[in-house]
Amino acid sequence: MRGPRPPSASSRSSGRSSGTASASAPLLQELRALYAKIDGALEGWGCDASTDCCRFGVTGREPYPTAVEVAELDRAVRARGGLPKRRSLPLVSSHARGARRSRQADADDGEDERRCALLGDEGRCLVYASRPFGCRTFFCERARGPVGERADSGLPRETITEVARDIAALSARFAPADPGPRPISRVSREWQAQRSRG
Ligand code: SF4
Repeated sequence: MRGPRPPSASSRSSGRSSGTASASAPLLQELRALYAKIDGALEGWGCDASTDCCRFGVTGREPYPTAVEVAELDRAVRARGGLPKRRSLPLVSSHARGARRSRQADADDGEDERRCALLGDEGRCLVYASRPFGCRTFFCERARGPVGERADSGLPRETITEVARDIAALSARFAPADPGPRPISRVSREWQAQRSRG
């Protein structure tokens, strides 16, 4: 979710129990500062941008943004004019096709690839600057650090844990009644339902 990269959501779907957009702006600024902190700690890490990690049926996992992160996603989606219409995207688009054939075949043959609603037609996250913490810190086995470190041993775990804790605390201030993480697929389904209701 490092390489690649939402409808408008109401206060309900963002988990915000009270307050206005202007009231939440300082908290979203705090969130973006925390994102900058973790991005700095992960400077130099990269992957082949296969977008596998944005296809939840391929990886078997998905990001779980907190309420304040959902609000930041909502802000970014609104800024770009809403969620994109569903479109087709090649299941495999990179040179790593061979290495992923088995897992991809499983996804093709069985469950849906469960593509993230925020993954654009060009294989890029549509809200990259606002992507959740989970997308910023997930690295698969093919990722490498600045000097070739592997994700299973080279990631700055202490900083990742510290920032995760700070985001959880921030979300508790933002939405005391429901601050916790929720699957991004559920968030996007709620956004789509709101759009269809007009
Ligand atoms: S928000 Fe979705 S498209 Fe963007 S990086 Fe995360 S999983 Fe990928």
